[in-house]
Amino acid sequence: MTVAATPAEAIASSGFVEKRPLERYVAPAKPSLVGLPRAELAEALGGAGVPERQRRMRVQQIWHWLYVRGVQNFDDMTTLSKDLRATLAQHFTLARPEIAAEQISVDGTRKWLLRLPGELEDRPHEVECVYIPEADRGTLCISSQVGCTLTCTFCHTGTQRLVRNLTAGEIASQVVLARDRLADWNSVNEPNNNPAATGEGERKRLVSNVVMMGMGEPLYNFEAVRDGLNVVADGEGLSISKRRITLSTSGVVPNIVRAGDEIGVMLAVSLHAVTDELRNELVPLNRKYPLRELLDACRNYPGLSNARRITFEYVMLKGINDSLADARALVRLIKGIPAKINLIPFNPWPGSKYECSDWQQIEKFSEIVFNAGYASPVRTPRGRDILAACGQLKSASEKLSAHERLALRAMTMTD
Ligand code: SAH
Ligand code: SF4
Repeated sequence: MTVAATPAEAIASSGFVEKRPLERYVAPAKPSLVGLPRAELAEALGGAGVPERQRRMRVQQIWHWLYVRGVQNFDDMTTLSKDLRATLAQHFTLARPEIAAEQISVDGTRKWLLRLPGELEDRPHEVECVYIPEADRGTLCISSQVGCTLTCTFCHTGTQRLVRNLTAGEIASQVVLARDRLADWNSVNEPNNNPAATGEGERKRLVSNVVMMGMGEPLYNFEAVRDGLNVVADGEGLSISKRRITLSTSGVVPNIVRAGDEIGVMLAVSLHAVTDELRNELVPLNRKYPLRELLDACRNYPGLSNARRITFEYVMLKGINDSLADARALVRLIKGIPAKINLIPFNPWPGSKYECSDWQQIEKFSEIVFNAGYASPVRTPRGRDILAACGQLKSASEKLSAHERLALRAMTMTD
């Protein structure tokens, strides 16, 4: 077996990346242009000496190379002069977040562990990103923060202390990186005719949908999430329509209306309980923004209609929130709000104090919700063999004991 010298070589040679040891991380010396919002890109070009009158056009050209064609070298940007390409290469890179590990589930789900620069040169932060292929779509689940400041008791991310917010560039880069790894770019001569590709229009996309359901609370990193998602939705670039982007929040009420006004993506709300008493325990943010305020914010979500419904997420916890009385109360609680209900089988993690509801119970619960007129797909667990479910991202936590780490390792191949 040959040992690859760089992450790029490791990927190219094996098609599968084992977790690389931490010591080998070298923080990038130059900033990357990948993922930057248009205004930041223009500013960066200005810093490299591109005259102001040219900037708009240059941004337009670079945007196309980055987000339609997916180029990874300035030299491939053939509509730019050689001089400009050299200047850009002097100041910037087109680096994606470094892939520390890639895991591919038997069901096709892929999970990437990504390294982002930390405060200290040689100590990167890690976040995860998961791709879930389905018959009619391919969904990428992306992260908004390293860790989370909130402490939902059923969520593994909640056991990790927040390290930092992701930048807009790092948020959009996750989509770029997934398109790289899935060969999901437009190339001049070869339209993507991959039979697994899905989407509308002439060019079918493997990554057709994005959900912000990875690590972190997106509405506590509002500006970067807004700017990053606007890059993802830009019609001249990555072009994933806002109807196909869903932001999931645990209920940061004041930013819900802002999300509707300033981002305009689909909203998912992590409800999980029908009384304040239980929700205070499961989602402690409820003490600050109780159910009544949360549901009012949902009712007033800008753009809400039967065609643009809010998704209420409800994790099924055995004996905790899964009684049939809970199901009936749930239906009453959201009455009048154009909604879908996503029942999520709880994904246990080492040390978690809950169990997933029995399948029969989930079905009975789902029937009540369905009979009340709500589509209630039970989210099929995907990628279980690689621990890819939401709330499970970035599996190695500093707070896990050695024993728990071992159990986790056995389950996920991460160490
Ligand atoms: N912070 C945001 C988005 C990330 S979590 C939020 O809380 O909405 C994405 C979804 O996964 C949320 O609905 C969350 O409640 C759910 N989740 C977290 N941990 C889980 C687990 N162990 N099993 C099943 N779902 C979980
Ligand atoms: Fe944070 Fe969401 Fe996990 Fe709660 S469920 S701890 S808000 S990531």
